[in-house]
Amino acid sequence: MRVTLIAGNWKMNKLRKEAVAFAQALPALLPPGHSSELLICPPFTLLWELQPLLAKAGVKMGAQDLFWEDNGAYTGEISASMLLDAGCTHVIIGHSERRQVIGESDLLINKKMHKACQEGLIPILCIGETLEERKAGKAEKVVAGQLKQALAGLSSDRMDKLVIAYEPVWAIGTGVNASGQDAQNICAFIRGQLEEYYGSQLAAAVRILYGGSVKEENIKEFLQQADIDGALIGGASLDAAVFANIVRLGEND
Ligand code: PEP
Repeated sequence: MRVTLIAGNWKMNKLRKEAVAFAQALPALLPPGHSSELLICPPFTLLWELQPLLAKAGVKMGAQDLFWEDNGAYTGEISASMLLDAGCTHVIIGHSERRQVIGESDLLINKKMHKACQEGLIPILCIGETLEERKAGKAEKVVAGQLKQALAGLSSDRMDKLVIAYEPVWAIGTGVNASGQDAQNICAFIRGQLEEYYGSQLAAAVRILYGGSVKEENIKEFLQQADIDGALIGGASLDAAVFANIVRLGEND
């Protein structure tokens, strides 16, 4: 049984005061006894301050990126051990904004995947096609290529904890979401690819999230799909009441 994961990606948003207000308000807003695993990925500057507050709310904490070396002359970068030290359990790797805005390549993403797995940080690997690629009928091919390159050289050890986020680039931050069925088709395809790499048992254990303009109005549609095990949420995770309501709406009736 895969436990639903509702993850918030705050991107480059929130100062300390706003982040603390979110974390302090959250416990009273969350549905009592909810069954989902919850995760917030704040900017690095907020990790230390938020960790105890999120823990109190029963929410895990993840980072939005990491570097593949342990320490040294890598100005501006952050290591896996620094993230673990701050209390992170997860790390987002290969978000499309990093691929597109920063120019992060599949090769670098693979190095980050290796480091996260080695250090016991759970990677949330983001993959997804652009609008042009979808229109050209290449969505599966693109997603398969990104997956293959990100996972290159990673054995099945610890991979049952892996989280994949299928995030079509055209749906991120645009307000335009994929349909539940379209997202399901790609998520089922991703699970099939995982089965080829790691076997059916491991493929059945890996959680696959949908991300791209998830909100209160559409969360149910995604979570009803057989191969969608949660959501990676950007904009709608910034407001504690909205985030908590998404968790509530995502619960099985
Ligand atoms: C994201 O940041 O991964 C994301 C999916 O953003 P949004 O929910 O705002 O589309």
